[in-house]
This record gives sequence, structure tokens and C-alpha cells, in this order.
Amino acid sequence: MTIAVDTSLPPVSRRISSWRLLFNNRLAFVGLLLLGVIALMIVLVPILPLPDPDATAPANRLKPLLTAGHLLGTDQLGRDILSRLLWGTRLSVTVGFAATLIAALVGSAIGIAAGYVGGRTDNAMMRGIDMLMAFPYILLALAIVAALGPGLMNALYAIAIVNIPFFARNVRGVTLGYVHREFVDAARLSGKGHLSVMLTEILPNVAPVIVITMSTTAGWMILETAGLSFLGLGAQPPQADLGSMLGEGRAQLFTAPHVSIVPGVMIFLVVISLNVLGDGIRDVLDPRLRSGALSRPGPVTDIADDRAIRSNTVEDAALSIEGLDTNFRSGGEVVPAVRGVSLHVKPGECLGLIGESGSGKSVTALSVMGLVASPPGVIQNGAIYVGNEDVLAMPETRLISMRGNRVAYVFQDPLTTLHPLYPVGRQVEEAISAHQSIGATACREKALELLEKVGIPEAQERAKHYPHQLSGGQRQRIGIAMALANDPDIIIADEPTTALDVTVQARILELLRDLQRERGMALLFITHDFGVVSEICDRVAVMKDGEIVETGETREVLANPQHAYTKRLIACVPELGTGGAFLERVSGLFARSEMEVS
Ligand code: ADP
Ligand code: MG
Repeated sequence: MTIAVDTSLPPVSRRISSWRLLFNNRLAFVGLLLLGVIALMIVLVPILPLPDPDATAPANRLKPLLTAGHLLGTDQLGRDILSRLLWGTRLSVTVGFAATLIAALVGSAIGIAAGYVGGRTDNAMMRGIDMLMAFPYILLALAIVAALGPGLMNALYAIAIVNIPFFARNVRGVTLGYVHREFVDAARLSGKGHLSVMLTEILPNVAPVIVITMSTTAGWMILETAGLSFLGLGAQPPQADLGSMLGEGRAQLFTAPHVSIVPGVMIFLVVISLNVLGDGIRDVLDPRLRSGALSRPGPVTDIADDRAIRSNTVEDAALSIEGLDTNFRSGGEVVPAVRGVSLHVKPGECLGLIGESGSGKSVTALSVMGLVASPPGVIQNGAIYVGNEDVLAMPETRLISMRGNRVAYVFQDPLTTLHPLYPVGRQVEEAISAHQSIGATACREKALELLEKVGIPEAQERAKHYPHQLSGGQRQRIGIAMALANDPDIIIADEPTTALDVTVQARILELLRDLQRERGMALLFITHDFGVVSEICDRVAVMKDGEIVETGETREVLANPQHAYTKRLIACVPELGTGGAFLERVSGLFARSEMEVS
């Protein structure tokens, strides 16, 4: 069946898109290219026809750039700078990466263990890390090398040790976010040991953070190694690394600047390419950026230049959607989500938009005010009329000023749409002051009035509460109060009761219907439940796979559904006392839709 084909697709396309995402970021791509060239050079350096980097020739000292036989000249002892540069880069990069690996390994182990075990162990470990962090860390590195004795290996240990805290802190923080998640509990309940849970459940989740920290600190560690060598504590003569070359060239800075400038430029190139590549990797590993191809969504959904504009067929409608096509672009692909949808809602009318999950209801609703995230979203065709004005043809600022003012939204889960750190009263006030310039006292009074209107008892007290202190139903009432704040002509409610239990749902529906009738607003009500439609909607539009398959008066559609899909949706509404039959109908629905898929 088609399902088998589907499962084989995602991994391939995901891998391609990661690379593409990295290449889309031009800076990261340049970093990768530069690093690739440097890596190739330092891998090939033993077989390149270069003079011995340590062979001195006092007669040839301080030759300038482009001397015959010495492309980059010679240093104060007559050694070939090109050869020393390549061998030195090889050493510096190796030491820097080795230090990064050690710091990542030890730091992440400490971080995961501390975050996972918690309690006193966590406390003890973190206080130890704090002590490491309390010293200026280059000073700490100096102290460690001083204690161990100068030398490149000791410099490596010192750099690794001072960087452990960065990994430990970062990884512990992320681990804490995972230890109490359900899948970790489930793994524990299944009998997995602690070590196994840490390695198989926690580690894969924190791995991106480890990689990101590594890619952003590797350049820094190469710099620190160079710093120690510059001070004579790392690479010892005659061995060349970038820091020691810089240190030795210092004495000739004015007579032969190229001796120190050449390693300086190399350090710069290595570190800058690592840093921009690190930034690129961080962006790729952040899944939220995947579909958005590295750009933040714009304020308004992209509208295609060659949009086919349709005229308004129902002049007296509060909201007319005419032939709307909304697509999602991912990579070079265009996936249609909404196809040729036309809907009309008159003032004082409630239109239900019903369809199963993923049928394109939310995308339709968000398209109305250009709220579909772009990229990847784009409105390809159609027009949206609010009071005979095509909002898609409006200037951006005008469209934005209509949001919440003439067209307001109520979303499914108010816990995610309300700001967790502001009292709810203040959030309602903000909704008012966004569009009305009234004084603070008047604004507060209006907010309280709205809270009372939507049935929040003791509004004065409740206004001071934070979203988490309210029940789901009360939060949704706040959401409705915010939508009503500016007396909109149109309210779009996207599954406002799906997250609520049945009795609360009934009360919220009643509230919405009463308010809508009282104020003569047009209500576009989105749901997947015909039971809800029959309670509140005058007319209903049935949506399937991005298209409207049937519209009509709610009563007529319920009594005499035309489309097979509508019949099945209606059959999904359970009736009291028919439990067994309901299950049969629902399983019939799935069996049939699977047949359609194949
Ligand atoms: P629903 O009817 O449940 O509200 P939606 O309108 O949210 O469904 O989604 C319709 C289709 O659009 C789905 O197939 C979904 O996968 C797709 N879609 C929604 N948002 C995005 C997005 N940001 N990027 C890509 N595809 C999306
Ligand atoms: Mg939805």
C-alpha cells in the first residue's frame, strides 16, 4: 500500500534538506569550504614537497614573501614559513579538537549524570563546576600548565579542563528538561537500568546541544591553545604551532611583519570558519528552522505575484473567501494545503467549518488575516473580502491593523496562546489598548466588563491571576474576552472547545453563540465534531483534503448529507446507548478511508 512508500521517504528527504539548509546559509557554506581546504592541507602536509619545518639556515633569515623556494618567506632562523605554517596549523587544530573532544566527553557525562540523578549529587557536582567557573579561565589554564609544566600535552589538558564547565552546565540544563518526561518514565518502568536510560533516552536528546556547543567552542579552544603557546607554555621550540610562531615573530614585528602576520591570518581563518560553520550547524540542528529555511516568518503570509484574483460573489457577507489556494513550499516542492476554497459568512451568522484533522481548516482560517507562517506558506490564488475589501490586496500595515480589531481569533489551547508571565487581566487590557487609545483606568474598567461578560465570576480578583491558576474553561473564556475586546465584525474560532471536557464545552459554546447573536458578529467556527456544529452553526461547510466537498444549512446537511464523507462524519457523533454500534461505524470509517488512500 501507499503507506509503505511513505515511510521510506522521510529519512532521505530529511538528510537532503539538512545539507540544503546548511548550503542555504552562505556564511556557513563559506566556512565549510574554507575549513575543508585547511583540513585537506593539514592532512596532506606530510606528503607535500615542503622543506623541513625545523631546518635552520641563518644565512637565509627573514626572507620576504614570494622568495624563490620560500613562498611565504623565512623566519628569524631562516626556516621556511610555509612549511612551519602548515605543520603548525596541523598541530594547533589537532590539539584544539582533542581538547574539545575531551571537554565534551567529560563535561557532558557530568551534565547528564548531575541532571539525571539530581538532589545532593547534582548539588555537589554543580558546586564543583561553579568553583572551576569562578576563576578567570585563562588564568586557571595558566595555573594548570604551571603546575603540570609547560608542554603541548599539558596545554591541551589545561584547555580541556577549563572548558568542561560550559559543557556540563549546558547539558545539565537540557537534561533537566527531559528527566521527568513521560518517555523517560516509561523506559524506567520497562525495567531499564539508570545507565541504559541515560545512554538511550537522554543522550540522543541532548546530543544536538553537545554538537552545537562543540562547534561553537572548538574555534575558541584553538585560540586558547595558541594563546598558551604564544606565552611559551604550549608548543616548545623547535616545534611549530600557530601560537608559538606568532610569539616568535613578535620580536620582528616591525622589521619583518610577515613572520607574525602569516600565522595570525591563519588563526583568524581557522577560527572564523569554525565559528560561522558552528552557527550554521546550530541552525540546521534546530528542527524549528527546518521548514522555515533559516528565515524567520514574515509578518504577513506571502502572496503570490501571479495570484488569480476572484471577485466577491456574495456582496452582503461579512467575510467572503473566494477560490483560496494556500500552499506550503518545502525545498523545491510545493504542497497544497487548501485548494479552491470559497466560504461566505454573513453578519450575525455562524458558519461551521468541519473536517478531520489535517484537512486544512486551520490553514484556511489563518489565511484570512495572512497569519500562515511564510516561509513555508504562500497564498497562491483567490481573494479574501472583509466588507467588500480584498485584504490580500491591502498594504501590510493596514492588514495588520485589522487583526484583532475587525477580525479576531479564538484558538484551541489558550494555555499556549496566553502569555504565562502576565496576569490575565493585563492581557485583556493589552488586547484593548492595541487598537484603542483610551486611558489606563478606562482600559481596566473595560477589561473587567469583558471578563464579566464572558462569565468570569469575581472578575476584579480573577484579573490578577496568571493563566496557570485558571481552569481550561476559564482560560478559554479569557481567550474569548480578548477576541471581543475591540468589537470585531468577524470572529474565527479554531476548535475553541476541543481541549475542554464536555460540560465546559457546552457552556463555552452557549457563551459564544449568545455573544455572537447579541453583537451581530459573523462567526466562523472550526471543529471536527458534527455534534458541536449542530448546536451552534446556522450553516456548515465540510472540508476534506483541502477542499470544500459540501455546504448547506446545518439542518439540511444533517438530515440529508450528499457527500459520503459528510455521512461518515455525521456517523461519528456518538448517541447515548449505542456504544457498540458507534464503534462499528467508526471502524467502518477508518477501513473505508484506508481503501481510498490506496
Ligand atoms: P486542520 O484541518 O487539522 O486544522 P491544518 O489546516 O492545520 O489542518 O493542516 C492542513 C495541512 O497543511 C496538513 O496536511 C498539514 O500537514 C499542512 N501544514 C500545516 N501547517 C504547515 C506548515 N507550517 N508547514 C507545512 N505544512 C503544514
Ligand atoms: Mg487545526
